[in-house]
Amino acid sequence: MKIGEHIKARDPKIYEELVKESERQQNSLEMIPSENFASEAVMEASGSILTNKYSEGYPHHRYYGGNQFIDNIESIAIERAKKLFGVPHANVQPYSGSPANLEVYLSLCSPGDVIMGQNLTDGGHLTHGFKTSVTGKIFKSIPYHVKPDGFIDIEEARRLAMEHKPKLIWVGSTSYMREFPFEEFSKIAEECGAYLAADISHISGLVVSGVHKSPSNYADIITTTTHKTLRGPRGAIIMVTEKGLKKDPLLAEKIDKTVFPGMQGGPHDHTTAAIAIALLEASSPEFAEYSRQIVRNAKALASALTSKGIKLVTGGTDNHLLLIDLKSFGKGSGVFAQEALESAGITTNKNTIPEEPSSPFFPTGIRMGTPAITTRGMKEKQMDEIASIIAGALEEIRGYSLPENREERHAYLEKAFGELRENKNLEDLRKRSEALCREFPLYP
Ligand SMILES: *Cc1c(COP(=O)(O)O)cnc(C)c1O
Repeated sequence: MKIGEHIKARDPKIYEELVKESERQQNSLEMIPSENFASEAVMEASGSILTNKYSEGYPHHRYYGGNQFIDNIESIAIERAKKLFGVPHANVQPYSGSPANLEVYLSLCSPGDVIMGQNLTDGGHLTHGFKTSVTGKIFKSIPYHVKPDGFIDIEEARRLAMEHKPKLIWVGSTSYMREFPFEEFSKIAEECGAYLAADISHISGLVVSGVHKSPSNYADIITTTTHKTLRGPRGAIIMVTEKGLKKDPLLAEKIDKTVFPGMQGGPHDHTTAAIAIALLEASSPEFAEYSRQIVRNAKALASALTSKGIKLVTGGTDNHLLLIDLKSFGKGSGVFAQEALESAGITTNKNTIPEEPSSPFFPTGIRMGTPAITTRGMKEKQMDEIASIIAGALEEIRGYSLPENREERHAYLEKAFGELRENKNLEDLRKRSEALCREFPLYP
């Protein structure tokens, strides 16, 4: 892909890094489940002259002049979002997923209120009330968990909700490979009088394609990032459902006021245009087929890995992601696995597993997903090859174990990572990953 000639002339240092990053994306298997490759049309809009404009406010109610065309762009994005997700209200201005979620809190809750979300080490997102996030500091967070088998513990969630009476409950997370139980959570929210917000950041592409159940009949509010399975620019959308408006007719107004002027200034109009384009792309039959293929690929990968004796949390997947349970490789072995896979040409991330025996920084799992490699055109056959590369790479971490003594860890890991980078078997596996990448070029 052509990288900006203007950047090359103006800033050779940044240009050089951009070229290298472009090559990295081209030549390795991108399997971080929250990543994807946006279309050239989406990227053109993201890098367009729209970055020059200020347009605080909403279409036809702006604080600045010259917004005739911006008004049209934002209105188109809003209409497309409403139609695609089947909701009566959408705000496309949130800068990204985390501010969008904070905007939901600030529209519905006061500091100190009780809120509930899926626990971070059980697959939940930081912004659903984790202690290191501002959401865990200003609100009283009561997390629910997954059971030892990896499925959400609905009974625990119900019990905690009735006991603590949260103001807001989140359903949706970053590391859950099964359908979200929207209906069960909507019953819990009704029973305890809470608002229910569905954060479908990871699965929104699957939802608009009908591959995953939509929360629009169950939740009051829906949030999503636009850059994951939806394959748009980095941004987010907050939506209010019919159900939410029935419960609180002012809900849409509250959300809009919190986004602007409550939390943000001028919207990123270049992103708004790119979101509009991504939503148009996502409404096509090709996109629906793409989403179905994401899931077929994930299931094919899951069964190929399982047949090689690799253990998956919940035993498989319903969506785009898989979580490998590395307990048999030792506590904290996710760090070695991530490094070995990277040496083998596969980018993934280490991740905690249910009943994590180690810690979030030295976890015992590997999370991986199929959205990005499916965008390149890969299918079930390639998943067999990828499963074989993964299994081969995991063999190479057998000799390593995380030192119990924290002081010894740094030196040990440095040595181990150095060895994994030089490892001949991993280099051979890398050649196989690169061959797949050449066969399915990115931005051909
Ligand atoms: C990615 C994600 C977010 C945060 O999005 P950012 O754009 O990274 O701020 C929030 N919630 C969930 C469930 C996510 O997966």
